[in-house]
Amino acid sequence: MVTAIVGANWGDEGKGKITDMLAETSDIIIRFQGGANAGHTIINNYGKFALHTLPSGVFYDHTTSIIGNGVALDIPKLFNEIRDIEEKGVPTPKILVSDRAQMVMPYHVLFDAYEEERLAGKSFGSTKSGIAPFYSDKYAKIGFQVSELFADEASLKDKISRVIAQKNVLLEHLYKKPLLTVDEVYATLMEYKEMVAPYVCDVSAFLYDAVKEGKNILLEGQLGSMKDPDHGIYPMVTSSSTLAAYGAIGAGIPPYEIKKIVTVVKAYSSAVGAGEFVSEIFGDEADELRRRGGDGGEFGATTGRPRRMGWFDCVATRYGCRIQGTTDVAFTVLDVLGYLDEIPVCVGYEIDGVVTKDFPVTTKLKKAKPVYEVLPGWKSDIRGITDYDDLPENCRNYIEFIEKEIGFPITMVSNGPGRHEIIYRNK
Ligand code: GDP
Repeated sequence: MVTAIVGANWGDEGKGKITDMLAETSDIIIRFQGGANAGHTIINNYGKFALHTLPSGVFYDHTTSIIGNGVALDIPKLFNEIRDIEEKGVPTPKILVSDRAQMVMPYHVLFDAYEEERLAGKSFGSTKSGIAPFYSDKYAKIGFQVSELFADEASLKDKISRVIAQKNVLLEHLYKKPLLTVDEVYATLMEYKEMVAPYVCDVSAFLYDAVKEGKNILLEGQLGSMKDPDHGIYPMVTSSSTLAAYGAIGAGIPPYEIKKIVTVVKAYSSAVGAGEFVSEIFGDEADELRRRGGDGGEFGATTGRPRRMGWFDCVATRYGCRIQGTTDVAFTVLDVLGYLDEIPVCVGYEIDGVVTKDFPVTTKLKKAKPVYEVLPGWKSDIRGITDYDDLPENCRNYIEFIEKEIGFPITMVSNGPGRHEIIYRNK
């Protein structure tokens, strides 16, 4: 069976922990979109890891970890990540990389940085991992697939020469930076070839067989619904689809095989980068939630940037779950809220004097003001609780209030960062 694990919000909902947890009973875990621009934090017996490219199932020796064709593959970063986990004592993982995955080229990272520099204050808050230039080239059909590393030298050099001719115009005239040469780019690609060669495979053919054999397969999404380029808060979005539906494309499996869509929803809100964030909070209130949030504070896994903080947003989350096609909600990081006397929850948006529960398009979203309902806190530590009924009443009320507002079943409640800190609810 194929299960997708995706986020309903702005990312950082705890998808890594849920994937790591479900991987225990899975055979294959696949990354199907995005690149090394976002990270998952995982805590297990081997230590604490920030994974950017590898799927969150690499810690088991019974799983195969796959980089699907939809990923923006940064080969040196993949290579370093594999080395890092091996150095920390994790058994060498079984990794497959799609021969159709495209590579983040060294100049993509440069262009990301140059463009942010050029836009100065008006930037998109990129992590400068080359993701936007990468996807621009992919759809402009001047990207490089992994399989091209194994083509003959002359045709690869010929393509490099055509592509960098275009890049050099921008480098010279727009950015005023050093130009690229064919030999330099080719030499870098040959280094990439050596690093990736042991893992390259026809992933969709492998998955076709795996599905037929009834293997348990997880599709691990990056970021969340709000960052989807079509359905999110465009243009403050990422460059590849963050939706479960894209899992079929980015891995190369039939869409009807995705039977379960676990949408991860965090018990409060956080976001990185610029963009509309209606229930955002500021000052001491935000600092305290940021400090107590996640595991060791809400700071970016890739950049270390402090995340923007906010109260739970039912409007964004209901929409985020709907657009994912949610079958199950995993409600995470609930333990963090145990310090609060009262917990505001955003239940509506006021736009031009009218209150709505429907998530609007970006132009209207800019005008939205949060409408809050305040729920009583539970003022206790809920870590270690394994039975839903043992949760404090106010805590259950918080969960059930949100479940009713978002309209999707919360079947898992995560009350700690560890792999087994989970409460299953039978719905
Ligand atoms: P992802 O990108 O969606 O995987 O999310 P991140 O890894 O960026 O952020 C989630 C953070 O919350 C990580 O540091 C996790 O270890 C932590 N985390 C996940 N679930 C829980 C939970 O239930 N409680 C607490 N306290 N931390 C959690």
